[in-house]
Amino acid sequence: MKWFISHDTIRSPFLKTLEKDCGEKVSRCYQCGKCSAGCPISFQMDYLPNQIIRMVQLGMEEQVLSSKTIWLCASCLTCTVRCPREIDIAEIMDYLRRRAYKKHMIPLDETEIPLFNKIFLRNIELFGRLYEMGLIAMFNLLSGEFFKDFSLAPKMFLKQKIGIFPQGIRNLKELRKIFRKSGKLGRARRDNLLHPKLIFLNLSRKFISKIERLK
Ligand code: SF4
Ligand code: SF4
Repeated sequence: MKWFISHDTIRSPFLKTLEKDCGEKVSRCYQCGKCSAGCPISFQMDYLPNQIIRMVQLGMEEQVLSSKTIWLCASCLTCTVRCPREIDIAEIMDYLRRRAYKKHMIPLDETEIPLFNKIFLRNIELFGRLYEMGLIAMFNLLSGEFFKDFSLAPKMFLKQKIGIFPQGIRNLKELRKIFRKSGKLGRARRDNLLHPKLIFLNLSRKFISKIERLK
């Protein structure tokens, strides 16, 4: 794909803002490609991690924020530990996800990823550890795929991979303090997952993405 990169794009404040907010010097990247060579998800990405970094250097905000890559990144930190310029690429991916979310620039194919993230975090906040049954039920309900993987549940239950009831942890209050502080710092938005508006938004995105796939 060919892109026209204008002077305005290169001089856009995108790179400066990102470096300031993340505390990561993206401009130090010399495109060695070690991050992409070690990334376990790269085969699914539309742009490799080093390409994303280069696009950030060039101020290509729109292309970066609308890419699938930032949503597919599993935050495994492989790229971060391999980078010879000590750039925390996983942190940058996280920042880009938050920015794309705020600007409503999530690719239609990937709208379930932020929904999954929200349900996962709310689950941890409530119980202190993952309650798989609750996560699956909530995700299926809000994504509109009510019976997705339904047939797997009995097998997983019999093999004790999932339990019917949640298991708590000690010091749950301390954990919740972290969530509260994170919310105050603006690092996490606590949406009411069962709010009718959110349910409607999720289901309509799903419907639109299905129609797009049929085209
Ligand atoms: S490993 Fe670091 S220096 Fe190399 S391409 Fe990736 S971000 Fe750039
Ligand atoms: S943190 Fe993301 S981009 Fe980096 S190696 Fe892991 S999956 Fe790939």
